[in-house]
Amino acid sequence: MAAKAREQLGFDPDAIEEKYRIEKDKRMRKDGDRQYQAIEGAFEHLKLDAFAGKSFTRAPIITNVGAVIVGGGYGGILCAVRLVQKGFTDFVIVEKGGDIGGTWYWNQYPGARCDVESYIYMPLLEELGFMPSEKYARGSEIKKHFAVIAEKYGLKDKTIFQTEVTEMVWDNKGGRWDVSTDRNDHIKSKYTITAAGILHVPKLPGIPGITAFKGHAFHTTRWDYDYTGGREGEVLSGLKDKRVAIIGTGATSIQVVPCVAQYAKHLYTFQRTPAAVNVRDNRPTDPNFASSLKPGWQQHRMDNFNAILAGLPVEEDLVNDGWTANNSFALLGSGDEEMNIEEKMRLADMQKMQRVRARVDEIVKDKSTAEALKPWYGSICKRPCFHDEYLDAFNRPNCTLVDTNGKGLERITEKGVVANGKEYEVDLIIYSTGFVSPANAWNHTGMSTKGRDGQLLSGLWKQNGVVSLFGSQTRGFPNYFNVGVLQAGVSGNFVYTLDVHSKQIAYVIVECEKRGVKSIEPEPQAQQAWVEGIVEGSKAMRSYFINCTPSYFNNEGHLSDDSSSSAIYAGGATAWAKLLEDWRAQGDMKGLELTNGSSISAKL
Ligand code: NDP
Repeated sequence: MAAKAREQLGFDPDAIEEKYRIEKDKRMRKDGDRQYQAIEGAFEHLKLDAFAGKSFTRAPIITNVGAVIVGGGYGGILCAVRLVQKGFTDFVIVEKGGDIGGTWYWNQYPGARCDVESYIYMPLLEELGFMPSEKYARGSEIKKHFAVIAEKYGLKDKTIFQTEVTEMVWDNKGGRWDVSTDRNDHIKSKYTITAAGILHVPKLPGIPGITAFKGHAFHTTRWDYDYTGGREGEVLSGLKDKRVAIIGTGATSIQVVPCVAQYAKHLYTFQRTPAAVNVRDNRPTDPNFASSLKPGWQQHRMDNFNAILAGLPVEEDLVNDGWTANNSFALLGSGDEEMNIEEKMRLADMQKMQRVRARVDEIVKDKSTAEALKPWYGSICKRPCFHDEYLDAFNRPNCTLVDTNGKGLERITEKGVVANGKEYEVDLIIYSTGFVSPANAWNHTGMSTKGRDGQLLSGLWKQNGVVSLFGSQTRGFPNYFNVGVLQAGVSGNFVYTLDVHSKQIAYVIVECEKRGVKSIEPEPQAQQAWVEGIVEGSKAMRSYFINCTPSYFNNEGHLSDDSSSSAIYAGGATAWAKLLEDWRAQGDMKGLELTNGSSISAKL
């Protein structure tokens, strides 16, 4: 490395790399992803819907429709919108919750906000004439946004609430899916779309004694306002005489901690790995900004964000926040001309993380707490976090960080939590311990998808790794579409991925209807080529993530060769979107096998 560039860095990259390795090794566990406890059996009550009426009953629904969409989050809702926009309205949405909203229905914890700019995160803003009131909208405003979408596109009447799909079976002879639910519904449908979410199955730490606790406990994704009092943004009055433990310090916890710290008698935050917490700088939407926007602005802004995150040159950084600012390896200054691109990226990443660590020192007064809150890993090893009150919460006298030096909790007792050999007595335990990894989530939906000849999708993927064309269709599962991240293009803005899927799925379905197609699925060669491309493209990402501290991003540090098929599209979200757009423009459905037959009477 050029000596001048090294001097300008102000840190020793080899020493930092060694520190990363030491910190990672502390956290590596042989049991990897198996360390977690599924929320089932004795824990089932932690999964109950705290927001919906519990006495809801209805007669089973027996019907025949054009399409069933599983899931009423942004993924399912966007599929519905794109279908309606193309004139296809013969569908139902089946939703587990008591309302639409998906992750925003379940995750109603205090402090919940989108962690990506709302002007690019909240879809359809131009179509709806909806402008978020803040740069990073509250969960409650995002729920309102869902309601506006549902109203405009008539989706509420098409949604079957508080219902879980249990099984979908392809009937080859009839050319229909038989969809069954936990309320004994039987829906025949020509197409099925699974948009069940990627981080939706909560998990608990698999530690001894977790059933022994005699106090109150819940997971952040089922916040118990009856216990804590208040709602989002309101006073959590129920906590004023309570000692509270929050377990976990991920992207959810950093939003929850400042709220709970404000109201609890005492808060203990149990940390295994510190989050990397960057500047948020939230602010109300400037009316001048809103009125200056030209048609097409939202797509342009989304693409601009993705391009910056993919390291592509842009004329202007439109979002200009912690995600995008300094996301360039031009950071290093002069003297770096002799470095190759990988080296520049490695050093720029370290430089970015040095700033995150310096920010901790600037905010947190107690030196040992500040040291413990410093993250020692690459900037995308975990979801980057942004918050302006999280670190400051640890300056409060009623807020204690219990750092476990990478080891995690020891056990739970009747009275509280044991870490570093010490028992902390508490009244409430809040598990902010995340969700089953997206790489495995398809296997945890509680729904079995059986394609031709009764073949199970989960069985096929378990045996062969994930197989798909474009990340959405799989051979052997005619007229079936999956909305997710595996083998798809992804950026920090996940809703972008969902909308690309939706446009593609709506196009394929409507084309099939126009052409009188009976069934459609990927051709074997096209599917194989897509999977090979994903596996090949995963190599560069793999070499980054293999050195990362364990998380759901890298299968808890155990990246095996078979995990490469559950990678994302290496070209990035915008390149994937462009590839699909070009594919649609060709109009020949290349790579898909079409079986002709009579068309259903879809209302086109
Ligand atoms: P995470 O998986 O990111 O965090 C789980 C936390 O629990 C980690 O800090 C983990 O520690 C800790 N943990 C697990 N087991 C133990 C143990 N035995 N002892 C101590 N600590 C333990 O889940 P989150 O819910 O925070 O976030 C999940 C995802 O949700 C994010 O990555 C993001 O994509 C999304 N999200 C999006 C938001 C938005 O605004 N759009 C907001 C919040 C979340 P360790 O790190 O050591 O594993």
